[in-house]
Amino acid sequence: GAGQGDLPTEIWEKVKNHPCYSEEAHHHYARMHVAVAPACNIQCNYCNRKYDCANESRPGVVSEKLTPEAASRKVLAVASTIPQMTVLGIAGPGDPLANPAKTFKTFELISEVAPDIKLCLSTNGLALPDHVDTIEKFKVDHVTITINMVDPEIGAQIYPWIFWNHRRYTGVEASQILHERQMLGLEMLTERGILAKINSVMIPGVNDQHLVEVNKAVKSRGAFLHNIMPLISAPEHGTVFGLNGQRGPSAQELKALQDSCEGEMNMMRHCRQCRADAVGLLGEDRSAEFTTEKIMDME
Ligand code: SF4
Ligand code: SF4
Repeated sequence: GAGQGDLPTEIWEKVKNHPCYSEEAHHHYARMHVAVAPACNIQCNYCNRKYDCANESRPGVVSEKLTPEAASRKVLAVASTIPQMTVLGIAGPGDPLANPAKTFKTFELISEVAPDIKLCLSTNGLALPDHVDTIEKFKVDHVTITINMVDPEIGAQIYPWIFWNHRRYTGVEASQILHERQMLGLEMLTERGILAKINSVMIPGVNDQHLVEVNKAVKSRGAFLHNIMPLISAPEHGTVFGLNGQRGPSAQELKALQDSCEGEMNMMRHCRQCRADAVGLLGEDRSAEFTTEKIMDME
């Protein structure tokens, strides 16, 4: 939305300076992602794993993978170059919570060197219930969960497998577990007052009609924002669906779906699906200025 919209004032106060949540703020505040999380615990049909997680980051982009220590140095270098840098996110290139040691070590190091920077992370939700206490401990401001279905039959067309509790699950059973974990994780965040945003990838013919139901389910569990993103299905982006002839939605189809969810809750329309190592104001990508090599030169 463009401004406060229907957001309650206490939530608006928390997000108005966040470049991703307020269209106004995105002209004035910068954010960065650090790519410290290579592994993933599920397989999405729209991801082929060679590239960044498509849930939050633009598919088809390979980010420079960092250790927590290198990520913390990078944050310091960026913050001293771009004073409007207010938000640090971990969004891949895999799932941050499938790499909990790296993700939370990064948050720990950054909260020591730059305590004013707000932290956020995005996840597919499978491991979320296990980590809500740690997320709260590190004062993570916002969590984004990618939820593409609330019906495991539809999920089975999106997720060929998940890896959970030391084993691999497939088919409807996999999506049933993923669905239950996503809903539980969202409820746990809401109970603790941690802001939860939901991302959904709109896949025509698979979950496009169904996302209205997803919108109701996440709203009733306290999500404050719903961001419906188009499937980007060009084969060069590495999407398996794309290779199988699955198309992405047209701009009109995307807008019609966002409109039909609008009455239900705040919709986010300006997410840019930034890469997992994005740096700068939204719409601007300064990641090339902050490669490990260049940061070593700066130090
Ligand atoms: Fe790929 Fe992200 Fe899905 Fe994992 S959660 S399979 S990294 S799109
Ligand atoms: Fe913000 Fe979307 Fe970019 Fe994340 S991917 S930093 S939510 S605009």
